[in-house]
Amino acid sequence: MTNVSGSSLAQQFQQAFGRAPVVVARAPGRVEFIGNHTDYNGGAVLGAAINRSVTVAAGPNADGRFRLRSTSGTPSLDLAAVPAGRLTGAEAWANYPLGVWRSLGDFNLPQPAGFDLLVDSDLPPGAGLSSSAALELATALALLQLAGSGPITPDRLATLGRHAENKYVGVPCGILDQGTSAFGAAGQLVHIDCRGPVFSRVPLPGAVHLWIFNTKEKHALVDGLYATRHRECMEAAKTLGVALLADLTPARLLPLLPKLTAEQAKRAQHIVAEHARVHATGEALAAGDLVAAGRLLTASHRSSQHLFENSTPALDRLVDLLEKHPAVLGARLTGGGFGGAVMALTRDSFTPADAEVIAAQSGSHPEVIHLLTADGARVVG
Ligand code: ADP
Ligand code: MG
Repeated sequence: MTNVSGSSLAQQFQQAFGRAPVVVARAPGRVEFIGNHTDYNGGAVLGAAINRSVTVAAGPNADGRFRLRSTSGTPSLDLAAVPAGRLTGAEAWANYPLGVWRSLGDFNLPQPAGFDLLVDSDLPPGAGLSSSAALELATALALLQLAGSGPITPDRLATLGRHAENKYVGVPCGILDQGTSAFGAAGQLVHIDCRGPVFSRVPLPGAVHLWIFNTKEKHALVDGLYATRHRECMEAAKTLGVALLADLTPARLLPLLPKLTAEQAKRAQHIVAEHARVHATGEALAAGDLVAAGRLLTASHRSSQHLFENSTPALDRLVDLLEKHPAVLGARLTGGGFGGAVMALTRDSFTPADAEVIAAQSGSHPEVIHLLTADGARVVG
């Protein structure tokens, strides 16, 4: 993982393809700040675009070929045409840029006839920081520029990236990843009302430090467990006579709980309270109250742990340790759960040494990443 500067990536492009790129575009990764499994329940989520990103350099290809390379060690491709089906194995990474190219057609946007693309990144793939959305959005901006298109709105860019991932990679992701990467701004969070989706920005009070503790553990049944939670939520909503659980407030849900099975009741309580916590977190941040925001983050984790039951002992242990540290404002699992990473919101005084002590005490050997908020996807050169 390198993420060289745009000009040095241009030099690498020159070496790889024998001429200078025409465009360089960059898109950030993201963390789910708060709002766990609220997206498909019609709720809200707050995401942060982060100072780790994917950068792509691109040029038109006069032969109409599709030449794709990455500095990450994945195989290079040189194709005469975009294949109708998905690429598999080590070449599967190319489904992202090729899926974006195909999506431009689906969205009636101009497509370059062929292109050369070099990808570089300092986002660890699969760490829950959404390297996939960053790759999609950076590619989309670069290809649109190659095709001579005017600017695209962040709404459309996010929707196009999600479409590429859903349809051409085959991952049924929601809008959080692409929405945050498109709308992100340094010093702000992105609020997404997933029902629209409607995007807005929430200013942060001063520099906010985020830390990721990535356990890299993944529950073997994670896809099945995700589907089970989805089903439990939909069944609970149906029994309660609402379209989606986020239609309910905690006060309205309470007298209805006896209608649900014990499992459904726990899932519904989590979703309804989590949706309310996203709103409360936005209010706390608007009031400049990072302490209150931090408490809501930890409350979110406890709800995932005890009600949504998508945490793991390793994630709980990290939150237990982080919660006791005086420079930590709050901590929670981030992403789908059943493994993955914990995010902590800290004061400036929290140091890499503090993080390493907690990582060592946790016993799960997490990878530690210090993050700041950053700007959203853009053409940089
Ligand atoms: P996440 O989005 O959480 O990082 P995903 O599994 O959704 O994890 O996406 C990771 C995939 O995106 C990788 O397996 C790879 O196919 C592609 N990818 C991400 N970064 C790069 C890169 N720098 N070069 C090539 N492919 C990449
Ligand atoms: Mg992804």
